[in-house]
Amino acid sequence: MEIKSENTEEKKSLNFIENIIDEDIKTGKNSGIVYTRFPPEPNGYLHIGHAKSICLNFGLAEKYNGKCNLRFDDTNPAKEDIEYVDSIKEDIEWLGFKWEGEPKFTSDYFDKLYDFAVTLIKKGKAYVCELSPEEMREYKGTPTSPGKDSPWRNRSIEENLSLFEKMRNGDFEEGKYLLRAKIDMSSPNMHMRDPILYRIKYANHHRTGDKWCIYPMYDFAHGQSDYFEGITHSVCTLEFEVHRPLYDWFTDQLATTEYKPRQIEFARLNLNYTIMSKRKLLELVEDKHVTGWDDPRMPTVSGLRRRGYTAESIRNFSEKVGVAKRDGIIDVALLEHSIREDLNLKADRIMGVLNPLKVIIDNYPEGKDEILEAVNNPEDESKGIREVPFCKVLYIEKEDFMENPPKKFFRLGINSEVRLRYAYFVKCTHVVKDEKGEITEVHCTYDPESKGGKSPDGRKVKGTLHWVSAKHAVKTEVRLYDRLFTVENPGGDKEKDFKEFLNKDSLKVNESAMLEPYVKNVKPGQQFQFERLGYFCVDKDSKTDNLIFNRTVTLRDSWTKNNN
Ligand code: ATP
Ligand code: MG
Repeated sequence: MEIKSENTEEKKSLNFIENIIDEDIKTGKNSGIVYTRFPPEPNGYLHIGHAKSICLNFGLAEKYNGKCNLRFDDTNPAKEDIEYVDSIKEDIEWLGFKWEGEPKFTSDYFDKLYDFAVTLIKKGKAYVCELSPEEMREYKGTPTSPGKDSPWRNRSIEENLSLFEKMRNGDFEEGKYLLRAKIDMSSPNMHMRDPILYRIKYANHHRTGDKWCIYPMYDFAHGQSDYFEGITHSVCTLEFEVHRPLYDWFTDQLATTEYKPRQIEFARLNLNYTIMSKRKLLELVEDKHVTGWDDPRMPTVSGLRRRGYTAESIRNFSEKVGVAKRDGIIDVALLEHSIREDLNLKADRIMGVLNPLKVIIDNYPEGKDEILEAVNNPEDESKGIREVPFCKVLYIEKEDFMENPPKKFFRLGINSEVRLRYAYFVKCTHVVKDEKGEITEVHCTYDPESKGGKSPDGRKVKGTLHWVSAKHAVKTEVRLYDRLFTVENPGGDKEKDFKEFLNKDSLKVNESAMLEPYVKNVKPGQQFQFERLGYFCVDKDSKTDNLIFNRTVTLRDSWTKNNN
């Protein structure tokens, strides 16, 4: 499997779509106008692959002073829903893009499409067919052998017009008749072998209600909708390359001037350890393997947002992966790198302890509180400093203490000295254990001369630990995430259900984390770096008296390690 890395060369030069557009502008095509569109089917929430397409389409419009439409491709009423329409709008706006005018819907063009179908019938280029699905398959031929003409191919125009009208009026049951284009049953391109234009479907549509009982096929609606909207560059993914001759055939029939939209295909975004099919994502939601479309483990835009991804990090990621003509798989570590890069600059640091171990500073005065100063963001001085309370009893991370540490353990052990970040040097003298032998208290002495964590005499310590004051700490729920799948290509094994590769440990809920009191008034969506532990954001269900933090990503960056 080819894992692509960031190509900095590519970033500077134009991508192949920009080259096409530049050429079109040079030759004066479409009077130099650039008009793109993002055409989601409202049958699921947007995922990171859609985000790539959004950044590309809206990005091209921005770059060339053009426009970009949002068009809902709502030709399949059975699977579509207004909930999806709303979430798609929210996600695009959140990513920072603005569509031209009102959102468009393919269903707005159902009348025009119907009229166009009638025109094709009148030109002798469409006919009503009665072949059953099995017969259709048989007549279609194979990629290496030509198909056969349908026996219904040569009905009279009048008969076709009358039957098509009856289809529309609901005179027939589903499946009885189809409207097909009359193109070429022996074309080497299977899509040109008299493709279906309309099928009968008694389904309530979320916008047109029961007005229609015939619905256009995707291919019959897509290019024409582009044409109706004046789209100049219709960017789509590679699987539509073979549909392009049909796209052109339809728009040729429609065009009355020089203007015609042009379809351009690029490679869809694939990420390892990730499923990117809406059907499969829906399955995860319906079977409750995740808590919803916006579960922070989902590769959906809403899931990533809830997890703590910023719009900027997703846009930067999309820019970095570039636009390719051939399919590849991008390492999910690149996405993680891009959020770390963004949050490193934006997120305030705080201290929090996930697995608290009590530390008692025996020589620190009983009952004394002290306020220490901590830097909010070492990358950004303007973020200032905050006050952190310190007292006799603290918490440190359980794994930062070992009773009998090996030499290379750069944390706390008996008789060893460490720095408590922004506080003091402390040295462990002894521990207290419970009846099971578990350490319940670590006793230390502190050096009052080391205030602020500064060495009073140049002596070095084993390491620097994060901590919180036990008396002031805020108990918090922390949700730690791991990849949702255990294998790189969970959808790749045709013999196995992708759900077999779900990672059972993808979510760990920790209800006993302790955070510094700075977090008392945080709001959902706020982001922090917990020193040494990762980037975290406040979950949407978090309440002041019941804080919930999601870990967006750990601090370790395998991307820069492997690629620099
Ligand atoms: P899925 O295969 O997940 O069901 P889809 O392609 O059917 O997705 P649409 O709603 O039709 O979903 O997609 C809207 C637009 O987003 C299309 O133009 C499509 O080409 C693009 N798109 C979908 N998935 C990706 C992807 N992984 N990478 C880039 N663009 C994508
Ligand atoms: Mg699609």
